[in-house]
Amino acid sequence: MSVVPLDSSKARLSLSAVPALGSITKSKAALVAEARRSVIEDRFRLQEAAKSLVPHERVSRCCRWLRAGERAVEILHSPGEGRAHYARLERCGSVWNCPVCSAKVAEVRRDELRQGVEAAVAGGGSVLHLTYTVRHQRGDQLAALLAAFGTAYSRMVGHRTYRELISKTYGIMGAVRGQEVTHGDNGWHPHYHVLLFLSRPLTDLQLQHLEAEIRALWERSAATQNLGMNRAGLVVRASSLAASGYVAKWGVEEEMAKSHLKTGRAGSRSPWGLLRAYADGDGQAAHLWREYATVFKGKRQLVWSAGLRALLGLEDERSDGEIAADKPADAVHLGWVMFSDWMLVLRWGMRGKLLNLASGGDWEVCADFLEGLRKRRFADRRARGLVADLPEVLAPPRQLSLGLSGAGGSAELYA
Ligand SMILES: [Zn+2]
Repeated sequence: MSVVPLDSSKARLSLSAVPALGSITKSKAALVAEARRSVIEDRFRLQEAAKSLVPHERVSRCCRWLRAGERAVEILHSPGEGRAHYARLERCGSVWNCPVCSAKVAEVRRDELRQGVEAAVAGGGSVLHLTYTVRHQRGDQLAALLAAFGTAYSRMVGHRTYRELISKTYGIMGAVRGQEVTHGDNGWHPHYHVLLFLSRPLTDLQLQHLEAEIRALWERSAATQNLGMNRAGLVVRASSLAASGYVAKWGVEEEMAKSHLKTGRAGSRSPWGLLRAYADGDGQAAHLWREYATVFKGKRQLVWSAGLRALLGLEDERSDGEIAADKPADAVHLGWVMFSDWMLVLRWGMRGKLLNLASGGDWEVCADFLEGLRKRRFADRRARGLVADLPEVLAPPRQLSLGLSGAGGSAELYA
């Protein structure tokens, strides 16, 4: 998305040149829509990058391969949101290495966290946002660092002092733990974000005591794993507003910033930032991202402590895979993409573009686009001498029979 700077000479134009309020609103909406289209195309571009780095993982088939038994790709449209969705395709459900599934899962998880915080506050409780980290340096192996970190945290929350003293004294009902990592000048930087749900608000003095007691315990537990820390080893943000701010940003920071340069501390990159750097030609980022994807595979991104969801009135947790495969409630059928056309969409990396066109809800626009891909393919083949130089009237037919589409799952052969 490009932003046109205001030309000061034009700023002196008379009022008659100022657009009506309606058109200002419209252009703002158009900018938002353009940003969303750009994000969607970016997700598919990053997913292509992930596919080339971990070709044997499910992300390489996600939103590409037809599900078993399916013979064409369906496009759904949600009129209320002005969004389009692919259906009848495989979904990997990976929150770690799939930008497409991760965005969908994050939306649901974010909503659950928001409901949890609201329920706690409405019930007279409070929520703290804690960040745990440890000292780290360039050259640390992520697998070893993360294992030691996880063990230290488990020891801390399992310690009698935490369970019997701290939890009871301050009315801790439970916690939600989010696991994240970035990479910067000092190597891998693993950290946990923890939302601590308390049965009541604490005074400033109580908060100071709570922070001091948890810090002491965290330092001791980390030391058993040969991990050190400075003041940043534990940061407590002590208001439900801070917790809400964290929840609002959960899973969307990278999308909002668009560029890895704008995320995290100076020079630090999130996994999506590394993947984007690889897509832009950074070979070192590829090496780092592969290490990350290998280590995080199978880990849970958000962990609710036992019984907390029930206490807050939330339903049982669904798996990432279930959420990724969900059909949006208001989505209606918009059109079918024949298997042969889908091959062309994949070949030229047009999944994001097609979805954006479909978001307007007009199937004719999509049909014209697919027709354009067929013509491009025909011209391509003719240029390579694969077809005789015949009149356009003999070009491939606009609609191919479903029966010719072949069994689902072989899309990769053509991509
Ligand atoms: Zn996926």
